[in-house]
Amino acid sequence: MLKVSCIFRLGSSLRQRQLHAGVTRLKRRKTAEEKKSPRIIEYSPKKLQSSSATDTHGTTDIWRYMSVAQLAKTLQRPLDDVQEAMLYVPGADNIEASAKLEDLKIIQNIAKKLGVKTRVVAAPESSVEDEHTERDVSPRPPAPPELLKHRPPVVTVMGHVDHGKTTLLDSLRGADVAAGEAGGITQHIGAFTVTLENGEKVTFLDTPGHAAFSAMRARGAIATDIIVLVVAAEDGVMAQTREVIQLAKEAEVPIIVALNKIDKPEANIEKSKRELAQMGLALEEHGGEVQVIPISALKGTNLELLAEAVSTQATLMGLKADPTGLVEGIVVESKTDPRRGKLSTAIVTRGTLRKGSVLVSGLAHAKVRGLFDHNGTPMIEAAPGTPVEILGWRELPLAGELILEVETEKKAHSVLKYREHQEQLARVESSSDEIRKKEEEHQAKYRAAREARRLAGYFRMRRGQRVKQVDENDGVPRVSVIIKGDVHGSVEAILDVLETYNSNDRCRLDIVHYGVGNVTEGDLELAKAFNAIIYAFAVETPQVKLAKDLKVKSYNVIYRLIDDLKEQLSSQLPALEVEEHLGEANVLQHFFINEGRKEIPVAGCRCTKGVLKKSQRFRLLRDGEVIYDGTLESMRHLKNEVDSVKKDVECGLRFKDAKVLPQAGDALHCYTTHMEAQKTDWDPGF
Ligand code: GDP
Ligand code: MG
Repeated sequence: MLKVSCIFRLGSSLRQRQLHAGVTRLKRRKTAEEKKSPRIIEYSPKKLQSSSATDTHGTTDIWRYMSVAQLAKTLQRPLDDVQEAMLYVPGADNIEASAKLEDLKIIQNIAKKLGVKTRVVAAPESSVEDEHTERDVSPRPPAPPELLKHRPPVVTVMGHVDHGKTTLLDSLRGADVAAGEAGGITQHIGAFTVTLENGEKVTFLDTPGHAAFSAMRARGAIATDIIVLVVAAEDGVMAQTREVIQLAKEAEVPIIVALNKIDKPEANIEKSKRELAQMGLALEEHGGEVQVIPISALKGTNLELLAEAVSTQATLMGLKADPTGLVEGIVVESKTDPRRGKLSTAIVTRGTLRKGSVLVSGLAHAKVRGLFDHNGTPMIEAAPGTPVEILGWRELPLAGELILEVETEKKAHSVLKYREHQEQLARVESSSDEIRKKEEEHQAKYRAAREARRLAGYFRMRRGQRVKQVDENDGVPRVSVIIKGDVHGSVEAILDVLETYNSNDRCRLDIVHYGVGNVTEGDLELAKAFNAIIYAFAVETPQVKLAKDLKVKSYNVIYRLIDDLKEQLSSQLPALEVEEHLGEANVLQHFFINEGRKEIPVAGCRCTKGVLKKSQRFRLLRDGEVIYDGTLESMRHLKNEVDSVKKDVECGLRFKDAKVLPQAGDALHCYTTHMEAQKTDWDPGF
């Protein structure tokens, strides 16, 4: 149950982000009327007429065994209000929308808290079904133990970049293809099953693109029973190794360590194990439960041992699932295939998936037209723990989202309708928040800019030329991007990284648009309009002649993409003047020389550090306070004009500003400045 709810949350946060990404998605604003009542849009015409429930005297009909949702409806109040009121009513413990209220006293009390008078009536016939639960679907309650059957473990391979995850997955997959039907076309799907010699099956999740992201790891870990942590024996524990250990701990998923690259001469198995133990992993050889299997993913050494370790761990965990009833599952990855249409890879977690099943997942639904394994072989059915490619989606489901089977297509439509409605409400909410935030931001920016202009004397009339209008940006540089990726998982991973961007006050990062699929003409148009860079991740870009200022950048590795984006952001930052300290001197005495009729002060100094250069700038300090900051008129050593003075050499210095009077005891710093390109301070964490 815990796992399921986690995924729910993940799904909704993903949706949320979609909504936040651009105001351009905003369809329309809520009217004041709608804001008052979120139930203004009714979908299925319900028999229960709220108008007849409240009579002209302002009393509301209530009846025994009405549900919380029904009460809200008859009271014509948002469900939230009713639930909140219930918190203050003794005995009203279950505030679920579907909870039945047995006690009329309690119902009256709730109504009273909401300022409504009530009249007890017989339950209307049509109110037996609760519309809330009728409209949406959710996972079934846990199955009774007698229905549970053994199922394969779901394993995610994680680890530091370049430690050999992909190689290991390929070897494992390859091993299975070789063992399985020869000639089967291996296609890349997001998960595959390996059958061990003893007939046991293990399902591996293949996180798309670079799995080196906490978000993806988090998702993987949630749909995962066991984590195989790949650690290169030559490198030992690295940053992402630590993250995986932390994550596994938080998600309470057991780890099996694959100590990789033992074929390399520099591999140091003992050192790596020590580091792992230091990270708090209770290794088996120290009496703990974490198994460490030395392998070579490249050479295929000890892969059976690793698979056996996984299988043993799975047996220990007693992984079971209910293969009966309506199917539940999790989307691992989804994509549009140019020939086969919308496809998703999923792991079945409950029930048995068959052709003809009707599925909903988030805002997508499918009537299953075909099921395939990772070899592209059609499957008759997919039991719990089995990865399967599902053909027949009408919309593309999102990676990480829950899949639920419903009885009929009609039901699927009504669920989607309901969810879209909920979505719309959330969207309006979040966009009005967004608009408010933007307005505040704009106001603050405007005031700051006005102040700056005032200080700079901006409002004074200048001769002739009109001062250039300050644009809407207020001079804050901006990088606009469009993200296109091959699968939802990769787009999601990129967006998750972009979400960590925290340097908007120095350079704004604008996500103009994102989506799954190849770069289209529309994307190019959009890029032109917004002066945006298109980042294409593992997708094709159209072979059109690009306008010179249009940038489309293709990557197959997410961190390279992010590296490039960091460079783009840095390049927008203005260069900074940087000081370089050249030398120091002490003023020993001061004297005057005559020039014409004027007396000009000279500082008699000794260089104590570095070098003093006549052409550079000098700062005269007295008790830590700057008396002068400027250049020299002359620098003399024993009557001769010189260009520089080294340590321990004495000299006479004349400042450009003859009014500055140096004193014995003053300190002099000689420095130079140059412009240095700034770097963005955004640290995406890898
Ligand atoms: P990932 O970033 O974790 O997916 O790492 P990869 O699987 O891409 O591997 C990174 C590099 O390590 C590649 O050049 C692999 O060929 C190499 N590699 C992976 N496993 C082994 C191994 O067992 N032995 C040796 N010598 N090299 C390996
Ligand atoms: Mg890899």
